[in-house]
Amino acid sequence: MANISALQDITKIAKGKKALLVAISKTKSVDDIKVVYNAGQRVFGENKVQELVLKYELLPKDIQWHMVGNMQTNKVKYIAPFISLIHSVDSLKLAIEINKQALKNNRVIDILLEIHIAAETNKSGFSEEELIDHLDIKAFDALKNIRIVGIMGMATNTKSQILIKNEFSGLKSFFDEMKATYFKNAPEFKELSLGMSGDYAIALEEGSTMIRVGSAIFGNGK
Ligand SMILES: *Cc1c(COP(=O)(O)O)cnc(C)c1O
Repeated sequence: MANISALQDITKIAKGKKALLVAISKTKSVDDIKVVYNAGQRVFGENKVQELVLKYELLPKDIQWHMVGNMQTNKVKYIAPFISLIHSVDSLKLAIEINKQALKNNRVIDILLEIHIAAETNKSGFSEEELIDHLDIKAFDALKNIRIVGIMGMATNTKSQILIKNEFSGLKSFFDEMKATYFKNAPEFKELSLGMSGDYAIALEEGSTMIRVGSAIFGNGK
């Protein structure tokens, strides 16, 4: 069951920080999403391509869909016609494929580069060094049908608020450094996607511009 008063509270908190609330609707029904849509939310995120495509087809066309999960390159073609932002670009190979499918659809697709900040090694993303290596050789420059609009990160799954805060502030520093150097002539590079249900308040304190909130809005069940 969607919690509309939580949605309204979080919307207000995000607005106060000039951040965007992305409602993460993965595993939730189309009917639950409609309730949240009818309360005014227009930006939704999913983490599986098939589910995203199905929901895109069934729900109003003024929804902006964000992809937040890791994806295989062979699935990019299914979302390329309509996706508004891909948060989870964790390899050059994936960026190249998004560029290719964007070109086929005569679009420019906005992406975020995912940086690995969590202690868990099973989480994905570029390391900071790896990304800098790619930027040094201008690996993304030829990809004219993607637009790198910022960086995304996921904190360690921990109860330690201090650890989460340190991970977020570390990524904010890295983001600022990238913006001042490699992206200094790219005004569109301005988004920092940090924060989920358990840590969006810390993320906003640390400078997040996009929070990805699922269970706090939709509940933990199906
Ligand atoms: C599921 C998910 C979220 C939302 O998580 P909640 O804890 O339910 O708010 C945010 N980001 C990503 C990448 C996710 O997969």
